[in-house]
Amino acid sequence: MLEAPPPPVVRTGSAGRLADTLAGILSEQVHLTIHDNRSTMISFRRREGRLYYRVHHMFLEAPETVVQALAEFAGPVRGRAAGERRRTAGTAIDAFVRHNRTRISPARTTPLRAQGVHHDLEAIYRRLNAEHFDGAVDARIGWGWWRGGGRRRTIKTGVYVHDSRTIRIHPTLDRAEVPEFYVAAVIFHEMLHQVIPVQSRNGRRMIHGPAFRERERTFPDHLRAKAWEGSHLAILLSPRHRDRVE
Ligand SMILES: [Zn+2]
Repeated sequence: MLEAPPPPVVRTGSAGRLADTLAGILSEQVHLTIHDNRSTMISFRRREGRLYYRVHHMFLEAPETVVQALAEFAGPVRGRAAGERRRTAGTAIDAFVRHNRTRISPARTTPLRAQGVHHDLEAIYRRLNAEHFDGAVDARIGWGWWRGGGRRRTIKTGVYVHDSRTIRIHPTLDRAEVPEFYVAAVIFHEMLHQVIPVQSRNGRRMIHGPAFRERERTFPDHLRAKAWEGSHLAILLSPRHRDRVE
């Protein structure tokens, strides 16, 4: 008997969105793990009717064509046409990885840069860890990278990578106009990803499930930070003056 497809779940995390998109293209249940490895950028395997992907976090911001290639790469291979599609998909993925190679972490021994011009991520992280987590969070934190190209309408302000226990904050937050309580709210959110396990519902992963959202709301500046982001998104989306090519 065929299993009924799980009901749609509203997702806010881009890992969830990517998993949903892949599941939609492939008409299969997809389990997605995001990693920060330096060598194998993507891998997949099928087990008990589910497709398990492991992909580097750079793919969270991959364009549609690359997501399509990710799906085709793991699609069933039967016949020459399918083999050809998989090779084409592999080529598209390789090109995307080459284009984004600056996002691959330097070797683990290289310290992350946490001290910005305006905000010291490490100091904020330590304060939050003491005040809200009894010092239980064990993560590294540093600024991420600017990605060139194109106007953007959304921005991924932070990312937590489980494999390396690393928090990266988007460097657009390192500005005088960005208040510290906002940076702290972003860091708090990423720290929560280590503390709140991913919830499963109907076999789907919810990285921002109810428990996560509930705990997130306990952050004293949660609403203030959301409101600030809502009215200052244009600042976050604009290049910093010193990064502009004049
Ligand atoms: Zn999140």
